[in-house]
Amino acid sequence: MDRISEFKALLAQPKNIVIVTHFKPDADALGSTLGLAGYLRRKGHQVHPITPSDYPGFLAWMPGHETVHAVQKDKPETLQHARHLIGRADVIFCLDFSSLKRIEDLESPVREASAVKVMVDHHLEPENFAKFSYWDVKCASTAQMIYELIVMLGERDLIDNHIANCLYAGLMTDTGNFRHNNVTAREFQVAADLTALGANPSEVARQIYDTNSVERLRLTGFVLSQRMHVLPEYNTVYMTLTAEEMRQHGSQTGDTEGLVNYGLSIKGIKMSVLMYDRKDEIKFSFRSLGDFSVNDLARKHFQGGGHRNAAGGSSKQSLQEALQHFLSILPEYKDALRKPI
Ligand code: 5GP
Ligand code: MN
Repeated sequence: MDRISEFKALLAQPKNIVIVTHFKPDADALGSTLGLAGYLRRKGHQVHPITPSDYPGFLAWMPGHETVHAVQKDKPETLQHARHLIGRADVIFCLDFSSLKRIEDLESPVREASAVKVMVDHHLEPENFAKFSYWDVKCASTAQMIYELIVMLGERDLIDNHIANCLYAGLMTDTGNFRHNNVTAREFQVAADLTALGANPSEVARQIYDTNSVERLRLTGFVLSQRMHVLPEYNTVYMTLTAEEMRQHGSQTGDTEGLVNYGLSIKGIKMSVLMYDRKDEIKFSFRSLGDFSVNDLARKHFQGGGHRNAAGGSSKQSLQEALQHFLSILPEYKDALRKPI
């Protein structure tokens, strides 16, 4: 981060701080939020973490999660309260996103707030809205950036086991368990230091991966056996899921997370796509291998973005129409998709 001493001075006195992360937060979004919240609280600040939606049950073990104010679409008073907190904040941290439209109903309250805004993120093509930006696309996770920031501020010693577990969770999941091509020696060094500071890797992994509901596992089985289609000419896999199918399987928030990765586990597949009905829109999850950029594809055709090998997007069409649209753009990428990984 530039102007680190100015930033340090900002946090030198107790402040009223809001931390916001993206809609439908994943482990990196919530882990970086709660890790930072823990650190700021230890420094004597008043901290209000806010999420623009609910978050998956497999994150509800994170220390401090009970302090999160989650906006719920069907409860306007929750948005009202979030507006109130944002309106009276001195500082607003925006974590794990860099385009304000990713916080949905909180976009205009944050945009209009008079607070000092701080952005910490690792997604491509950021919007310039913050006074302080710490932005690094080479960093595998935002949680790791929060660790780096605390170290830069000379306060590594304030990282306790609760903070370390939250940050480790974001690092573990955004690297796909240290498997993705965003993993360098640095990621292992940060993981090692977080472990030395009290993070418990096996317990974090258990909480995130081994707390499935039976319904979630059956939904995975259903999609893989009935709703996964392979397009060998494009080295592509796509999966679809209707709102009714999710209802029939008793799906909860987060149940589709990770599903798209199964497509990439097939030999020779270069792109995997999951499209599912969120009722008010169709959500796309894209994953790719090598130099094929799903960020570019999502940005160009589905109002989305993310990283080169993991991106998301959305469509206001029906699921059938969104699927047809997706299939219609594939010829544009045929050469790139057929190039060996
Ligand atoms: P996921 O497929 O797991 O929802 O998201 C993959 C990556 O793309 C994540 O880093 C996520 O933050 C980002 N992403 C997901 N949806 C969107 C979107 O609609 N717009 C943008 N800009 N990024 C997204
Ligand atoms: Mn992230």
